[in-house]
Amino acid sequence: MLARVTSGSAYLREKLAAAGVTPRTIGHPEDLAELPFTTKEELRETGMLRYAAVTPDRIVRVHSSSGTTGRRTICAYTARDVDDWADMQARCYRYAGLTADDRIQVAVGYGLWTAGIGFQTGAERLGAMAVPTGPGNTELQLEMLRELRSTALSATASYLLLLAELVEKRGLRPELALRVAITGGERWGEATRARIESLLGIETFDLYGLTELWGPGTGAECSRHDGIHVWSDHYHVEIIDPETLEPVPPGVAGEIVVTTLNKEATPLIRYRTRDLSYRYPDPCPCGSPYPRIGRIQGRSDDQVKVRGVIFVPMQVDTVLADLPGAGPEFQAHIDRDANGRDSLTIRVEATGEPGLGEVLERRLRDRIGLRVDLDLLEPGTLPRSEGKTRRVFDHRDL
Ligand code: ZN
Repeated sequence: MLARVTSGSAYLREKLAAAGVTPRTIGHPEDLAELPFTTKEELRETGMLRYAAVTPDRIVRVHSSSGTTGRRTICAYTARDVDDWADMQARCYRYAGLTADDRIQVAVGYGLWTAGIGFQTGAERLGAMAVPTGPGNTELQLEMLRELRSTALSATASYLLLLAELVEKRGLRPELALRVAITGGERWGEATRARIESLLGIETFDLYGLTELWGPGTGAECSRHDGIHVWSDHYHVEIIDPETLEPVPPGVAGEIVVTTLNKEATPLIRYRTRDLSYRYPDPCPCGSPYPRIGRIQGRSDDQVKVRGVIFVPMQVDTVLADLPGAGPEFQAHIDRDANGRDSLTIRVEATGEPGLGEVLERRLRDRIGLRVDLDLLEPGTLPRSEGKTRRVFDHRDL
């Protein structure tokens, strides 16, 4: 891969030469530590055409990530990249128990986004029926679910929750044939998952992927729902401490760093995803040859420090998952008073069950390691989003 990349991209050749690396110096996985990291900022600033490891005539498609700050990151695909991606996404569907007999409704974004077309081409590669509804338009989603009797649905977790609550409210469940939902693209907790599964009577599968790593389909859960299998025939994964940049042992949380093994147009060497996860030490009892990482716990740039303690939204999810009367929707608000003292307020939907507030407050304090102020709200008060749900609101002037 390094030989291909250095012959194809002057930019990457110079970058590796500057780091004193030639393809020959890398012979073992441990040698990878000699390679320089790749960051999202670097991809954005370099520009796709300068970064690409193939000539523009070999590029058959481009996609772009959401670009919430500044310039978008553009990623390119050769015909083989597109083909490999469809294979990987089809593999994700197989891990979710889907076959050519299934009807997969794709309720995620099309266009420059990777999600829609990734889920779609994977469904077609599997031989299933793809139903490309795109994101939002809830009435259309319900109409297709009933009319075509879609058996699987790809959507963000927050949109699945919105649909599930509507199906429940309108009593539509007997008219649906839905049995599986595949979701990714945002960090979602066990509490949300349990609610979606019980409202719709389905099984949900978590999926991992990023635009820079092709798109969705980098890895998926198997039916054991214990971690995400990463397709190690296409990706080499390291987990590092985001501050020291050293590898961390299995089971310890750190940042996912990915090297693509076959990607032709925009290959990645030690790409810092900013996603936080951990490595499983053992093979999965399902018999899969692909190694596992934990479900995404948050992003290293999402984590905030409150009074010196690291806070990630996943900590609230895990507490809510064990308390049936609370959640799954919540918001975390961080404020600073006139004396410079920070406070963390968790706003969460809860039933009026007596004593629930005290239990919740104690468990949150134990899990986060910080006293929290609790704001209990009526169920259904917090906004449901069709895309990614914002959880953390930092009101401090930092
Ligand atoms: Zn497994």
